Amino acid sequence: MSAFQPNVPTAPDAPFTEDRLAALARVTDGLDTHGLWWLSGYAAGLATRSGGSLQTVTAPAVEAQPAGRLTIVYGSQTGNAKRVAEQLARHSDAAGLPVRVLRADAYPTRELKDERTLYLVVSTQGDGDPPDDARALIEFIAGKRAPELKQLRYAVLGLGDSSYPQFCAIGHKLDARLAELGGTRLLPRADADLDLETVAEPWLVQALAKAKEALKPGAPLATVTPLRPLPAAPAHGREAPFAAEVLANQRITARGSTKDVRHVELSLEGSGLRYEPGDALGLWPVNPPALVEAILRTSGLDGGGVVEHGGQRLPLRQWLGEKRELTKLSRPFVASHAAQARSDELNGVLAPDRLPALTRLLNQAQVLDLLRQHPAAWSADELVAALRPLTPRLYSIASSQKHVGDEVHLTVAHVEYDAGDGLRWGAASNHFARSDEGVRLPVFIEHNERFRLPADASRDVIMIGPGTGVAPFRAFVQERAATRPMTTGASGRNWLFFGNPEFRSDFLYQVEWQQALKDGTLHRFDLAFSRDQAHKIYVQDRLRERGRELFDWLEGGAHLYLCGDATRMAKDVHETLLAVIAQHGGKSVDDANHYLNDLQQQGRYARDVY
Ligand code: NAP
Repeated sequence: MSAFQPNVPTAPDAPFTEDRLAALARVTDGLDTHGLWWLSGYAAGLATRSGGSLQTVTAPAVEAQPAGRLTIVYGSQTGNAKRVAEQLARHSDAAGLPVRVLRADAYPTRELKDERTLYLVVSTQGDGDPPDDARALIEFIAGKRAPELKQLRYAVLGLGDSSYPQFCAIGHKLDARLAELGGTRLLPRADADLDLETVAEPWLVQALAKAKEALKPGAPLATVTPLRPLPAAPAHGREAPFAAEVLANQRITARGSTKDVRHVELSLEGSGLRYEPGDALGLWPVNPPALVEAILRTSGLDGGGVVEHGGQRLPLRQWLGEKRELTKLSRPFVASHAAQARSDELNGVLAPDRLPALTRLLNQAQVLDLLRQHPAAWSADELVAALRPLTPRLYSIASSQKHVGDEVHLTVAHVEYDAGDGLRWGAASNHFARSDEGVRLPVFIEHNERFRLPADASRDVIMIGPGTGVAPFRAFVQERAATRPMTTGASGRNWLFFGNPEFRSDFLYQVEWQQALKDGTLHRFDLAFSRDQAHKIYVQDRLRERGRELFDWLEGGAHLYLCGDATRMAKDVHETLLAVIAQHGGKSVDDANHYLNDLQQQGRYARDVY
């Protein structure tokens, strides 16, 4: 976010030697804001116990009374909402406002009735689902037990993807419900699309101004002096990606497979980038050149013509290749194109009662299809303005740094299909497929604190990852092998459920899993090859067959993980887990639901689904 850079506090008179400061930086490195405040309180506690007085810290903001405090709560699946919320918190902190920032599942719902100033930054997944970490809070706010909120001033920033019809539905619901409960909006709700800066930047500026006004103190504000130097921003991130060299790019499905899945290895040497199993790698893709040329031909526009937009002057070909979304349609683009093409058919699809038709169109068509099927006379300037900015794609990391050092590995399914009039591709997977060894790709790490191995290595883990959903579990098993205590008995067991179409062609990382079974780093392995027999067999069939043991593992404290397709698989697996818990735990469906929600609350059921 260029115009709204974080102002990193420093410690002007830190009573520490260089060594101590370096040690502190190591401790705080990678902690989120909540963790930093916790550490701050911990240090304050230590100082009080040792009889010292805290002259420079009058009150950590987290302790401020609700009346004079800003609370920022985020619900985030891929880290965007978290990043925006933390950015707002840093600016509020720098402006001297007492502020706390909490992940939605860490927000104590009993405090809502006393909350005075609340900002919610929440994403919507796919077709209107909340992010996993916000499920319970949203249920509470939507439910009968939600308190009256006459004292509350609030604002909601929704994040979403306008290639889904239910764009920002969760933000809409929360905003409306808080008003219904008596809250007063400090700002109108804002809906940010994948190019979230466009909406989030101005929203942050306004939100900060409103918070300053709202918290204008009768009594002086508690001054918060950071106890610690915040870790310096890493040299590389989303806005300053690292050019990582491709070390390997191998197809790991056999020739006869319906899928072209790649194992990609990149070098992070010299980047300073660190990741944990569960994190994702972001790639800023370049659109397939053949697709750009097809769009130029279809629209009759000159790729060499210069277009000025948003302060940048670039040839149209470069706009389309590097700056604009071509492989995913968004509702706003469909609307602009319908107007431009004067197409009754397209306008009809946008009608409120045609949601299934719009969903189908957004899922199945690309920009090129629209241009071909509904010709329109776009000028280059208009087309660039109407298309959505290109955004990075995230891939679950398939390696542990304890095992691969300065490398990062990915499992990438190349999206390529024949649309009848030529091939279509996925932007990032095609970029990977085109990138041979030696090519450099612009990447960054997106941390995902919600998808972590248990801190307690003696806990069992159950991993469910069909298709490329197996990627993070390769990282998990590598990590558990690398950190396994030497003595036997103390380390938890690892159980993997994997599925794909055919044993012969689609058994991803077969040799590695066999080795892990032999080494004793993988204890249970259940396979579901869907097309090796007349009827489909899916991972949930194996879960059902192993229901008794699965439930016993959960009762024994196991952590459960699910990764892969969000639209069908994750929903079906979730239903099966409920059925297994109900059957083997002797529970009603409602109680099974509570059981699974509880696991989620305890951080023992985590999902990374797309
Ligand atoms: P996939 O299409 O999910 O297929 C994997 C296996 O799951 C196949 O055997 C498939 O069987 C089966 N399957 C189909 N429907 C299912 C259902 N309702 N329940 C359970 N299993 C089902 O695999 P993929 O090509 O590797 O794609 C994975 C999907 O997840 C993609 O949509 C991808 O975008 C997403 N994903 C994202 C990430 C990430 O980066 N975090 C990681 C992994 C996957 P049939 O095809 O024979 O029916």
